[in-house]
Amino acid sequence: MNILKQTALNLFENSLAKQGLVLAIRTWYPATFYEVDFHFPFMDMSKWKSVQHIKIKVATGVYRDYTPAGWDVETRTCTLYIDAIQEGPGSEWVQSLKEGDYVTYVGVGSTVHKPADHGKMIALGDMTTIGHYLALQQLSGENSLSGAIAIAEENHRIEFSQYFHWDITPVEQTDQGGFHGITKWVQNEDLENATVYVAGHIPTCVHLRKQLKKTSAETVRVQGFWS
Ligand SMILES: Cc1cc2nc3c(=O)[nH]c(=O)nc-3n(C[C@H](O)[C@H](O)[C@H](O)COP(=O)(O)OP(=O)(O)OC[C@H]3O[C@@H](n4cnc5c(N)ncnc54)[C@H](O)[C@@H]3O)c2cc1C
Repeated sequence: MNILKQTALNLFENSLAKQGLVLAIRTWYPATFYEVDFHFPFMDMSKWKSVQHIKIKVATGVYRDYTPAGWDVETRTCTLYIDAIQEGPGSEWVQSLKEGDYVTYVGVGSTVHKPADHGKMIALGDMTTIGHYLALQQLSGENSLSGAIAIAEENHRIEFSQYFHWDITPVEQTDQGGFHGITKWVQNEDLENATVYVAGHIPTCVHLRKQLKKTSAETVRVQGFWS
């Protein structure tokens, strides 16, 4: 990185960066998916009305977005659910984390996903969206989500069913973003008056939106994550 870029980055980080502390890490088997509990003392979570994302520093000059879930307004703690199946700075970062580490983030922002005010809410995505939909469920209170999340590893599908007590089905992921598994699940669903949330792999989101536009779903809300 040249000196100008480094100076600009330092200025940017010095003005915006805040820190969080890693409290605990749970690793799924195989170890390509992580749940990380954080304390973010400077994060005011009390006004969150839609699902949020945090821009975290994962290497020098490199930031990745992750979704805070299971937050507690009083203690300012939350959990990030991070897929690390790919090779990239984000996945290397999460695999290197230890309890007691400090992390740097440069901001929290809203996504387009918030609870629907009527009708069923159906959530579709890949493993990167687990935290995102746990957050949507937390915001939705008693109005529970249903839906499908595409998961490649059989043991991860088992862990998903054991850990989360919600009406979201882990379906087998046979392609990059889970399009086929999710489409198969959707075919058996009544989408009348439903708000359908789509997130995750961007090309899959685009294809799913096209398919869903042909159904009786009332609204389709897409939030792309990665491509
Ligand atoms: C609003 C928002 C919220 C997000 N929330 C989360 C979250 O809570 N949890 C989470 O895990 N991710 C989340 N993501 C996605 C995450 O930021 C990206 O997947 C991230 O780019 C991965 O970073 P990386 O450095 O490991 O890989 P990159 O350097 O970005 O990518 C390296 C290569 O791996 C591929 N790739 C990237 N991600 C995956 C994947 N999951 N599976 C297979 N191939 C992949 C890319 O196509 C690329 O070829 C979110 C993204 C956004 C925009």
